Amino acid sequence: MNLIDTHCHLNFQAYKRDADEVIRRALDAQTELIIPSAEQKTSRRALEIADKYDRGVYTAVGLHPVHLQDQEFEEEGRKVKMKGERFDYNFYKKLAESEKTVAIGEVGLDYYYLPDDADKIKQNKQLQQLTLLQQLELAYELNKPAIIHCRPRSAEGSGEAREAHADLVPLLQTFYKNKKRRAAGRGVIHSFFGDCDLAWKYFSLGFLISFTGDITFPPKKNNLPAYQARDELIRKVPSDKFMIETDSPFMAPVPFRGQRNEPARVIEVAKKIAELKNISLDSVAQATTKNAQTLFNLK
Ligand SMILES: [Zn+2]
Repeated sequence: MNLIDTHCHLNFQAYKRDADEVIRRALDAQTELIIPSAEQKTSRRALEIADKYDRGVYTAVGLHPVHLQDQEFEEEGRKVKMKGERFDYNFYKKLAESEKTVAIGEVGLDYYYLPDDADKIKQNKQLQQLTLLQQLELAYELNKPAIIHCRPRSAEGSGEAREAHADLVPLLQTFYKNKKRRAAGRGVIHSFFGDCDLAWKYFSLGFLISFTGDITFPPKKNNLPAYQARDELIRKVPSDKFMIETDSPFMAPVPFRGQRNEPARVIEVAKKIAELKNISLDSVAQATTKNAQTLFNLK
């Protein structure tokens, strides 16, 4: 059974010492992987790692929206500190032209970590949207898909929480309106949390969605309907429209919750999907692997 972890950040500090051992464990478990980046430093690092492997290890390069401003925050107990960066088309184009680079990413909108005052929020959102458009342009120019991150400001899937999607959907509609190339294979909305209605908007735009370890978590009690709608989506999602990922080092699935995650555990995500869809693990593996191979044009 072959699996593909379509999203793991083995280029992050968390794997500074043992990225190669982590990759070895994944490849031994018949799991290939794609390493998306967050800014220039991790984009370079992703390629350094992937260049060591003949097959099975690929990258995506790009500027993540949280890297547009200087900031410091904690993500699942890990301190994250960053210096604001502006998108440099030529820098990323060069890395994106590598054979190992199978996508532009991760790019998108992050309304979770926004500045405090209203003026700054507006400016920051505009900058995020502009930067996303520039990177979609690069993806289109190189005919590679985009890996899109879309994180709302508050709790998953409810009312105001959907505001990041409420900006992303029209942005994508406008961007692709006058683009001639086929609608299929434009990219993926990674670590998707939403209902059927939202997912089908992305399908109609030529995007897939991918699920990560959070689908194994028990639902948050104060937001039960959103979790039920997400599970309903997993039951209904067509077999050619979704992929799996770990989002390592984050999102470690049950029973590894709270630990540093790694790509060999992507099988836990596949198992949960098989359970919800009431189909075999093998058919989830086959479908998701085929979808990743097609979208990312893997040999
Ligand atoms: Zn990510």
